[in-house]
Amino acid sequence: MKVLVPVKRVIDYNVKARVKADQSGVDLANVKMSMNPFDEIAVEEAVRLKEGKEHHAAGTASEIVVVSIGPSQAQETIRTALAMGADRGILIQSDSDLEPLAVAKLLKAVVDEEGPELVLMGKQAIDGDNNAVGQMLAALLDWPQATFASKLVVDGGTATVTREVDGGLQTVAAPLPAVVTVDLRLNTPRYASLPNIMKAKKKEIATKAVADYGVDVSPRLKTLKVVEPPKRSAGVKVDSAADLVAKLKNEAGVL
Ligand code: AMP
Repeated sequence: MKVLVPVKRVIDYNVKARVKADQSGVDLANVKMSMNPFDEIAVEEAVRLKEGKEHHAAGTASEIVVVSIGPSQAQETIRTALAMGADRGILIQSDSDLEPLAVAKLLKAVVDEEGPELVLMGKQAIDGDNNAVGQMLAALLDWPQATFASKLVVDGGTATVTREVDGGLQTVAAPLPAVVTVDLRLNTPRYASLPNIMKAKKKEIATKAVADYGVDVSPRLKTLKVVEPPKRSAGVKVDSAADLVAKLKNEAGVL
């Protein structure tokens, strides 16, 4: 089974985002960028499907192709996935941050070309928090989708996915080919070892342009402004529980 894993280069989750002075977006100049954390989980699961780790039979995945749409530096994100164990990469160069529908259309074109039986991807990119590309891609492909996977079992042409829903777990079965988006608790991604980082340098990355795919990626949305969350005002110290109750009653008016 060929597995396609879309990976996005995003602002590192440890970085405190700063807004540009003109409020047009987040300032990414000289900021550490990394693979979207949910996409790392998707790469890890694909590699486990290949290696036969946990409950997966070895060779469930025969080839893992990663694809990233982004600036030329997204090559580094692809290299990280290759060092974790993916086989080859595709970079679709784009200097603008495309909207989910445009990304989904490009990924559909890649799926049409590559013919994977499973697209395994993050549930959400932590920069835009859209949580949309997987669902849109499944709709464009007319494939089943199983979102927010906390467990994945692939057996005999079926993906069985356990999903974290309000108040419990739901298990669904999807015939392949399918789109599966992954949640935080699916696995803990590995750190690439030095030998694997070296090996990844020799793996192939094909570079493409958005124009190669002939899809309409024009934006549907206009960002009006981006602002930082309001600063928290300073708190007060109370001397006793009675004092706290009095303040909650008389000042905050919540009792
Ligand atoms: P989103 O809907 O933007 O929150 O993203 C959901 C998932 O779609 C991500 O976890 C990635 O797997 C994939 N994705 C989004 N944008 C890109 C991109 N520019 N390149 C590759 N994959 C992407």
